[in-house]
Amino acid sequence: MSVRLILVGPPGAGKGTQAELLCESLGIPAISTGAIFRAHAQAGDELGQLAESYTSRGELVPDEVTNKMVAVRLAEPDAAGGFLLDGYPRNLSQVAELDSMLGESGNQIDAVLCLVADDDEVVQRLLGRAAEQGRVDDTETVIRHRIELYHAQTEPLVSLYRERGILVEVNGMGSIESVAQNLVSELKAFLTK
Ligand code: AMP
Repeated sequence: MSVRLILVGPPGAGKGTQAELLCESLGIPAISTGAIFRAHAQAGDELGQLAESYTSRGELVPDEVTNKMVAVRLAEPDAAGGFLLDGYPRNLSQVAELDSMLGESGNQIDAVLCLVADDDEVVQRLLGRAAEQGRVDDTETVIRHRIELYHAQTEPLVSLYRERGILVEVNGMGSIESVAQNLVSELKAFLTK
């Protein structure tokens, strides 16, 4: 299916897992800015070192860096027939940049999926993930800061996309399977409306 999607939701809502599952069933690439930053950090290259100096503190990587990286990724051939952005855009200035990137090729976002989850639940999930994966940004202080940033900088996007009429809210609090099923069915219902 040729569809351009954004997946938004607080840290710990399960975006990465759900992005992979949804993209597999839709046959489009999942593009996760957080995962791209982590891959560069693991490789120890210049972008990785720069990104990690922000991600390790739970701060956003500067927009110029992130926007450029997304523009390069969206220009790759596999994204021509649709994609799902996970973790981007994360603030209003990235929304404007994405609009203009897509506008240049005459495209637009078809739907914005928002995983709804409450703060206490996501903190518990992230602390659990910290024990399993050892991500540098999963300590309690950094987690709290990431959630604060989500409310302050990313939540305004949700209202904006709601005003644009392309927001699809899905309860992110069930099992992986039930959230995945809800995402697919709510998306299909929205796209065939
Ligand atoms: P995530 O895997 O989406 O939780 O992202 C992990 C970290 O990568 C975030 O806490 C930020 O430091 C950084 N990051 C990911 N996406 C963006 C973005 N769109 N803008 C700025 N920083 C980002």
